[in-house]
Amino acid sequence: MSKNKPLPFENDKISEECGIFGIFGSPEAHLLTALGLHALQHRGQEATGMVSFDGKQFKAKRGLGHVSENFNAASMKMDELAGYAAIGHNRYSTTGQSEIRNIQPFLTELAFGDFAIAHNGNLTNAERVRGSLIDTGSLFQSTTDTETIIHLIARSKRNKVEERIKEALLQIEGAYALIALVDNMMIGIRDPLGVRPLILGKLNNSYILTSETCALDIIGAEYIRDIESGEMVLITENSVKSLRISEPLKSRFCIFEYIYFSRPDSVINQKSVYNARKMIGTELARESKVSADLVIPVPDSGVPAALGYAQESGIRFEFGIIRNHYIGRTFIQPSQDARSSGVMMKHNANANIISGKDIILVDDSIVRGTTSRKIVKMMREAGAKSVHMRIASPPTTNPCFYGVDTPSKENLIAAQLNLEDIRNEIEADSLAFISIHGLYRAMGETKRNTQSPQYCDACFTGDYPIAPSRNFILGSKNNVS
Ligand code: AMP
Repeated sequence: MSKNKPLPFENDKISEECGIFGIFGSPEAHLLTALGLHALQHRGQEATGMVSFDGKQFKAKRGLGHVSENFNAASMKMDELAGYAAIGHNRYSTTGQSEIRNIQPFLTELAFGDFAIAHNGNLTNAERVRGSLIDTGSLFQSTTDTETIIHLIARSKRNKVEERIKEALLQIEGAYALIALVDNMMIGIRDPLGVRPLILGKLNNSYILTSETCALDIIGAEYIRDIESGEMVLITENSVKSLRISEPLKSRFCIFEYIYFSRPDSVINQKSVYNARKMIGTELARESKVSADLVIPVPDSGVPAALGYAQESGIRFEFGIIRNHYIGRTFIQPSQDARSSGVMMKHNANANIISGKDIILVDDSIVRGTTSRKIVKMMREAGAKSVHMRIASPPTTNPCFYGVDTPSKENLIAAQLNLEDIRNEIEADSLAFISIHGLYRAMGETKRNTQSPQYCDACFTGDYPIAPSRNFILGSKNNVS
């Protein structure tokens, strides 16, 4: 294979920003998985899939679109998936072809039997590993980074599936929360730094692995614990065995999960996402208070931070922007033009509240700046006297290589412009971001430990805990698979 030719998955955004769910040992595994995936819809809205096992046979169904469009009461897909174990995956992708062959979970027949896998995260050395696997005869079915793991497992000469997986993962770098299913076991794994979330839950006699606690709540399951970084759990009927795939390293969990990505009713690592967001708003108000009549959240992701800001500053909180919930997240538009109109489709000013007022707008992040610019304009058109923008994260100056869809540096407004120029660009009267130490204070730390940071915050600091591959750095945003 030509060394210069881009690998297919560079042009296709695959296993990022995904949500995963698996349950072992329930007669309604397929139904509970559909519910779990529904609770995780915010983590991926482009495609969804499920693989189940009924004791004899593995079955798989995958489709484009939302969970409810694919796995609903009226859908034949549900009956066909009946089983006592099931794993599922929601996928988010902003560009590239939405190919059915890339929808997870993948199901393959390996030497030891059927093997299904669902992945949340992003493998940073997948292109190199994939290249050498292809050079030595592997035939890839999809353009995803995840498939490299399957090929490595297939090639392993070890006897036990867990040993094969461990051997495969020792050759893999990057961020991964994985759920795998074989005929007698469900397996959960977190990468050595625990960048992406994975938790263990229980419902009656069945165990659950999933990305967020909101997926346990929806089925009435009990939270047991977070899977540790570098840990592999083997779940069989009524037993959970824990192994290590790496020595325990200090976790570098993604701080952006708390800021934006996870659902606010989820609890990660004993910490409520909602409370974390509110505390960020509190710190933001301490750092950059401004006098105004109203604090207005950019819904929905800015709401908890705006509440924190309002409570700390004593300025009245109002819903000055109403969101239409029936369209996807702004980012899911294919081009800049469509993305711009997407903001208007999603948000409308509550003009009665805003007119004649000095307002503080609170949003979770500025990425390209498209949303802020549109919303500030919308507020002025609705009669706001002044618009002060407050952002509940530090400036996003670096792309993520571990599974969050951030654009390449040239499209990140904070990587291109200084604070005053961003303010000018979004036409706000004032603009402030929370500082990095303020963010860590909000997370309950005294400050960011610069020698050994408590979280992965590479999108704000450029401090990447896992070296991104050269192609990732050089490439466009589409190169993040
Ligand atoms: P932008 O218009 O590019 O500045 O988008 C910023 C908005 O997108 C913020 O209001 C966030 O709520 C949201 N956002 C931030 N990061 C992401 C992401 N990785 N995927 C989807 N939406 C995001």
